[in-house]
Amino acid sequence: MARIHNFNPGPAALPLPVLERAAREMIEHAGSGMSIMEHSHRGKVYEAVHNEAIALTKELLGVGNDYDVLFLQGGASLQFAMVPMSFIPDGGSADYILTGGWSEKAHKEAQRVGRGKARVAASTGKDGVYTRIPKQSELNLDPGAAYVHITSNNTLFGTQWHSFPDTGGVPLVADMSSDFMWRPFDVSRFGQIYAGAQKNIGPSGLAVVLVRKTLVEKARADVPNILSYKIHAKENSLYNTPNTFGIYMARNVLAYTKELGGLAEIERRNRAKAGALYAAIDADPDFFRAPVEKESRSTMNVVFRLPSEELEKKFLADATARGLVGLKGHRSTGGIRVSLYNAVTLESTQAVIAFMHEFRTQA
Ligand SMILES: *Cc1c(COP(=O)(O)O)cnc(C)c1O
Repeated sequence: MARIHNFNPGPAALPLPVLERAAREMIEHAGSGMSIMEHSHRGKVYEAVHNEAIALTKELLGVGNDYDVLFLQGGASLQFAMVPMSFIPDGGSADYILTGGWSEKAHKEAQRVGRGKARVAASTGKDGVYTRIPKQSELNLDPGAAYVHITSNNTLFGTQWHSFPDTGGVPLVADMSSDFMWRPFDVSRFGQIYAGAQKNIGPSGLAVVLVRKTLVEKARADVPNILSYKIHAKENSLYNTPNTFGIYMARNVLAYTKELGGLAEIERRNRAKAGALYAAIDADPDFFRAPVEKESRSTMNVVFRLPSEELEKKFLADATARGLVGLKGHRSTGGIRVSLYNAVTLESTQAVIAFMHEFRTQA
């Protein structure tokens, strides 16, 4: 077997034991004579997996019964539409804080499909480039907004909210696609959280949504059934045929996360990985240039530049030849991006650091 060091930004690395479990159970799931994909979504075998995925999400995050946990299709991008369609009242408005390409997309979609306004309450972008998270004092929040939307980690630019904004009484909604469960956090600060599964908790095409029940009750009903939080909550994410295999894989990731010691242990590992990589960058600022403001640095996507684009090209080619893949920065920013999601090991991180030293010495 030749697994290589995978730093893909998404879909991204999955824990090896999770893949091995899926391989063992692929042909026959839990003595049932068929794979999980071949089971009815209304049958007992699948239902146990489905409910375990929901229960583990709640357990790992310490969430009580005041939130609905949903597993929906359409990834994070469908949530860009469902949130404004459900929560912006006619003639009302919602606030968006722009910190990167994904928050721009969420805001644009809200402008398109919301039945009111989608304001920009703050933006740290300059000519489409973002290098920091705004301070509380920079937020121009509307106390009458239906919600405030943030992107907790900016996958393209490598910035991350390390403490969440104070929105007064206005529900905070977060796209946590690229840092969901990177550490324990207080879910009760949020009206809604959503995340595409493919960075930290599973395969693509699946989104996990945590939404406060009192918000679900207030959600607009004049939306298509398939886009209705009320219906998905009432039907326990079984209104339509869900992505059963995706949810099974997410269940395996969550069960493995629990086995490791839960989110406190995941945080310890993530801080060790990101800490080591940023230390390597900072030790050589003439060669490795980190464009992101220090306080805003992401623990999940570490972005840096080399002295020239030519060197960056060579770095990426040499890295690939060494079995270090997925390091190319997003097309909007260029440079190098090392994605250190939950499933990326300290060993892989050390391999990339060793390669950086070697490349530096030769350059
Ligand atoms: C990857 C990503 C998305 C897009 O997810 P899809 O599942 O492709 O819709 C949205 N937001 C953030 C922050 C992301 O990192």
